[in-house]
Amino acid sequence: MGKVVGIDLGTTNSLIATLEDGQPWVIPDEDGELLLPSYVGISDAGQLLVGKSAMRQYAAAPERTVKSIKRQMGTDYRVTLGGGADSPVGAASPKENREYRPQEISAIILKTLKQRAEEVLEEDITQAVITVPAYFTDAQRQATKEAGEIAGLDVLQILNEPTAAALVFEVNSEETETVMVYDLGGGTFDVSIVEITGNVTEVLASHGNNRLGGDDFDRQLERHLADQFAAHYDIELPSDTVTQARLLRAAEQAKIGLSENAFVTVREPFLASKGETALHLEMEIAREDFENLITPMLKETLAAIDRALSDADMEATDIDRVILVGGSTRIPLVQRLVENHLADTPVSSFAPDLCVGLGAAVQAGVLSGEAVDSILVDVTPHSLGIAAVMSTPMGPVPDMFSAIIPRNSVIPISRSQIYRTAYDQQDTVEIEVYQGENAIARENVPLGSFKIEGLPPKPAHALQIEVHFDFDLNGILTVTATEKGKGQQESLVVNDAETGRLSSRELSQSRDAISSLFDTLALPLFETENMETEEDIEDDNGNALE
Ligand code: AMP
Repeated sequence: MGKVVGIDLGTTNSLIATLEDGQPWVIPDEDGELLLPSYVGISDAGQLLVGKSAMRQYAAAPERTVKSIKRQMGTDYRVTLGGGADSPVGAASPKENREYRPQEISAIILKTLKQRAEEVLEEDITQAVITVPAYFTDAQRQATKEAGEIAGLDVLQILNEPTAAALVFEVNSEETETVMVYDLGGGTFDVSIVEITGNVTEVLASHGNNRLGGDDFDRQLERHLADQFAAHYDIELPSDTVTQARLLRAAEQAKIGLSENAFVTVREPFLASKGETALHLEMEIAREDFENLITPMLKETLAAIDRALSDADMEATDIDRVILVGGSTRIPLVQRLVENHLADTPVSSFAPDLCVGLGAAVQAGVLSGEAVDSILVDVTPHSLGIAAVMSTPMGPVPDMFSAIIPRNSVIPISRSQIYRTAYDQQDTVEIEVYQGENAIARENVPLGSFKIEGLPPKPAHALQIEVHFDFDLNGILTVTATEKGKGQQESLVVNDAETGRLSSRELSQSRDAISSLFDTLALPLFETENMETEEDIEDDNGNALE
């Protein structure tokens, strides 16, 4: 088996890591940068931009740049990127407009990371473990897997981010340690309770919000800056995308500054004008003001902690330590609130931006048979079941949610349940699959439905239908229903249709389109004009020279 890499495909930043001699390390780019900003764009000249170059372009040309695509994974969102408004839609050349699905944009990020690893490790990389928030739905996991396929990677496992983070922390003894992983990144929040015994990691409970993170703090601060600006000059800030993007970038920089300093000054010259006069934004922000802005959102994360504790049937005192993961945990208030909330539990963090990717590399090592014998046990983030008529003392109630796999079950898991027909002469049953926790089926997330038709005429309750759920390590659900008499059987791989899952033909079309984009990649690495020979760029020790 070749080398398997671990990839943290983040909302804000992504990275690729590998395992060597039992130790995970992050593979840097040619400038030594570990993180690849999760930005993709097309330059003015029609070149593909990925990472920092696309991030730099964002403020000036947001219409040609995509960020935070992770938030759209698993939806049928489309983004148009290309050379300009006049360009035809649907063309494969980046000089022309083309609509991209979220998994295609993610594939561009993955392919860039894959190439980075291939350069450094000097071998082809075809297999990967990719992390996702524990709270990601099946559709979001499927889309992540497809992104890997489009990028030319066989995704051996979709791994939950908090589980990956816990894999990095060495466990001191053979005694069981209960660890809470609090992960607050750019776009998502997750809290998981993980039990580690020796090399076995088991996720006991997981809870989160896949629409809460540092991006929201940036937006709050951006609004605050805009309000202050309007109050100061008595004029609204222009609402064009360039001004908004500049303000958002200034807000993020201010936020990061406030993690180290009690005050920062935001300066954005020539942000607007009043008559002939140019107006500049220059404003001091106190850490305390920023903290007040984000406290309500952070309180939501504390409520999620309580929910995870109660799901795991635990008290705060049962937690041995808390691990902080994700760039936003660098905000001092985050650490303080978590510490206060969990009283005397020690809170630690180690490379909060890197540890998910490092953990993915550990798991990749396990899968490729390298000498790290950790074993991973993961759980389902939601209950999975079907809509059914339930008998109650008041009589039958339709459309109730009958959970077949309860939330926080250890995966992989297969479970079956027997149902009976509800009416006399019933010749069809419809299996409607849902995920969620509400007792009313329709209040949960529908995952798909299918029918078994042509059932033999029988009185109510006489026919038995076995519904089998199979939930695999990647969080993908296969539902099979079998009529017990004649053995009629139908099945459904969840999210096949509704969630915009791609067919193999679409996948291969995407793969070709993304590959052709890479021919235009705006990286010095691929410029042929000044290309030196291999002897030129290596010194006697084989180290790469500038
Ligand atoms: P991640 O998704 O883990 O890469 O985290 C990215 C988020 O962390 C972004 O919203 C960043 O703005 C934020 N971030 C990174 N460094 C800091 C910092 N020093 N203080 C506050 N937020 C930060």
